[in-house]
Amino acid sequence: MCAAPLNEPTFRQSVDLMFNRAAALMDLPPGLEQKIRVCNATYTVRFGVRLRGQIHTFTGYRAVHSEHMEPVKGGIRYSAAVDQDEVEALAALMTYKCALVEAPFGGSKGGLCIDPREYDEHELELITRRFAYELIKRDLINPSQNVPAPDMGTGEREMAWIADQFARMNTTDINARACVTGKPLNAGGIAGRVEATGRGVQYALREFFRHPEDVAKAELSGGLDGKRVIVQGLGNVGYHAARFLSEEDGALITGIIERDGALYDPKGLDVGRVHEWLVRHGGITGYPDANSVADGAAVLAAECDILIPAALEGVINLSNAHDIQAKLILEAANGPITAGADDILRTRGKVIIPDLYANAGGVTVSYFEWVKNLSHIRFGRMQRRQEEARHQLVVDELQRLDLMLGDAWSLTPSFKEKYLRGADELELVRSGLDDTMRIAYQSMREVWHGRDDVTDLRTAGFIVAIDRVARSYRAKGL
Ligand code: NAD
Repeated sequence: MCAAPLNEPTFRQSVDLMFNRAAALMDLPPGLEQKIRVCNATYTVRFGVRLRGQIHTFTGYRAVHSEHMEPVKGGIRYSAAVDQDEVEALAALMTYKCALVEAPFGGSKGGLCIDPREYDEHELELITRRFAYELIKRDLINPSQNVPAPDMGTGEREMAWIADQFARMNTTDINARACVTGKPLNAGGIAGRVEATGRGVQYALREFFRHPEDVAKAELSGGLDGKRVIVQGLGNVGYHAARFLSEEDGALITGIIERDGALYDPKGLDVGRVHEWLVRHGGITGYPDANSVADGAAVLAAECDILIPAALEGVINLSNAHDIQAKLILEAANGPITAGADDILRTRGKVIIPDLYANAGGVTVSYFEWVKNLSHIRFGRMQRRQEEARHQLVVDELQRLDLMLGDAWSLTPSFKEKYLRGADELELVRSGLDDTMRIAYQSMREVWHGRDDVTDLRTAGFIVAIDRVARSYRAKGL
């Protein structure tokens, strides 16, 4: 990996620098800028779990950045690199992200300093339940106060353990399931949550490519079809994004960067097959049908149209920002570009679709899941058949017309089937996500194009988000 040079700010400082850049262009009441920027509180816990005949001590964090809306929301990350600075940076990004996509939450984030690959499933369950216990008893997991979700190194399985732990400790809470999102469908989850962040990346790019003016700013033209894309990290976010872009939008995934190297094929890689290989072998090493590159991070600077860092923070930094060739960079990971690299890339005319917007698909669908849990009913359950019955009336009338007009006019063969089908939960979730990503992009775009002093989408996104958080504080009388 391209390690960030020592003279770079930390992740949290980097987020703050980006915040400051936007706040300097706003007219905030004295002191409010500082109030919004700082992290309200970070809880650190050290707990022991007996494993393999001895007690192991683990360190975990839950940072609450802003409580201008409650509950606060943000994932739980399992990684050996987790520390207080990282969770505070990620919590801050959650505040701005939720504001930008109008998910009614404050920002939070948690992390456990652990390499999950070193433990088996049973051990991970013991560790997760114990960590959850520590957070639950302090209301740092709670349906009305703090609602975690998956992040790097965690997924549906861990969320199901957390939800069950909460239910055991709150046996009469009818809303217990809403204490965490990203659960499996059979444990109160929602259709489309696993793919949500990758799906959001696809919707973000589709929306960007709907605006030829914006596409031209990146010195690109046309649509997504045939665009050469390099993705770093084929985990939850990177895999789904790469699959949808290649299978549904005709993009060519020419490079995939993982921990153990990179694969490169100018004709486009088969994302499904690479992912299968990765899951089976724990890495991409040995994958047969592509050129492999041992220094994976070097591929970040390879020629392509769109670069999608979807692994971890700080990978594009002062050491490689001058070499990046991609014209458009979409931050699917949180904080993949340091503040210094951001300055360099902007000067070089690169267009960056920023993390606070680009990966907001996860929290958007988490919001839908939380609402589903609180309403105790699947989306679409009440109206689906009624919708179908009403559509049937229209189809009957059209068929009558079809008979009357003979050869002059007839129904398109697939119309009836498509029109009759009422939307199920997955379709409603996708539609809600698509709408959210479009509207959020347009709100950033308005500032980007509408103000001479705003030259990039990140600053525009921060301005929209900070303004909304400021309004919430004002409404609360602060
Ligand atoms: P994940 O654990 O599912 O996947 C991460 C992938 O990155 C893994 O395949 C891992 O092997 C790879 N990776 C790790 N270190 C790497 C390195 N040095 N070089 C190349 N590849 C490396 O995690 P995820 O949930 O996909 O999260 C990825 C990023 O997206 C994180 O920044 C996370 O905060 C962000 N994010 C995730 C979600 C979500 O819903 N899961 C939502 C918003 C943002």
